[in-house]
Amino acid sequence: TVFNLGSINADLFYRVPHLLAPGETLASTKHSRGLGGKGANMSVAIARAAARAVHIGAVGSDGRWAVERLLEYGVDTRSIVELDTVTGHAVIMVDDQGENAILIHPGANRALTETHIASALGAASEEDFFLFQNETSGQVEGATLASARGMRVVYAAAPFDAKAVEAVLPMLDILVVNAVEAQQLTDELGVALADLPVRDVIVTLGGDGCRWINTDEGTEQTFPAIPVTAVDTTGAGDTFTGFLVAALDRGLPMEQAISLGQQAGAIMVTRHGTADVIPDLKDIQDARLA
Ligand code: ADP
Repeated sequence: TVFNLGSINADLFYRVPHLLAPGETLASTKHSRGLGGKGANMSVAIARAAARAVHIGAVGSDGRWAVERLLEYGVDTRSIVELDTVTGHAVIMVDDQGENAILIHPGANRALTETHIASALGAASEEDFFLFQNETSGQVEGATLASARGMRVVYAAAPFDAKAVEAVLPMLDILVVNAVEAQQLTDELGVALADLPVRDVIVTLGGDGCRWINTDEGTEQTFPAIPVTAVDTTGAGDTFTGFLVAALDRGLPMEQAISLGQQAGAIMVTRHGTADVIPDLKDIQDARLA
């Protein structure tokens, strides 16, 4: 089982003729609402990769639909609490050129307490994985509890914050970053990836695939991406990470977990949308990308 401490957002899309300027009032021509948040995306990916996903998170009373949708997608939602605050949301403006501007309000995601996380992890064992990202409160507390239980601890350091990474580094077994985050990490912490106190470091490289650094063995391997025509790269990293951790939880070796993550990521970039369009194992089989 993967216990995923993660954000749940309402993604509110607004089509606009151009992005807003300061002081401007603008009418949107099209609106839609979708399930989003890095945490929710990863839980959906884990479920679609045929592993058990227990989502540890929070919404407000306006977010019941999001919890229902996670449940429909096969995620265990019993550790999602309803708090007396607004559900996290992202206001996403997309203009006619496809350029976007995004405003995020974390809401309930940053109101998660250690007490709640501890009670959710009460059912976890050392067979299980603990996954988290940088969009909720309780990251240090969660990682500390999970590590003490002997769980394997995986952190996707996004959105990147050097202080947040530093605080959880000693508890991590696996760190997943994209190319930009990898650069920020080495610049801001002044340490090479291979010298981090984390056994496995995975750097995703978009259309260039990914790199796996095993600091124990002192090895580094690059895996080319699966060639596809990308139309929307939103959620590619979340999908990759969800499939990677799900595969490891199912007992597969790292190379196979990376391969599944890359196949899912490649399919994801050929689709428009986020959580709702994350591929499943059958899509991967049908696509025969590997
Ligand atoms: P993030 O969304 O966090 O920036 P990346 O863009 O690095 O993450 O993408 C994560 C993974 O998704 C990559 O390692 C790769 O496997 C896959 N992927 C992303 N973009 C492409 C692409 N253009 N073609 C094929 N695979 C891709």
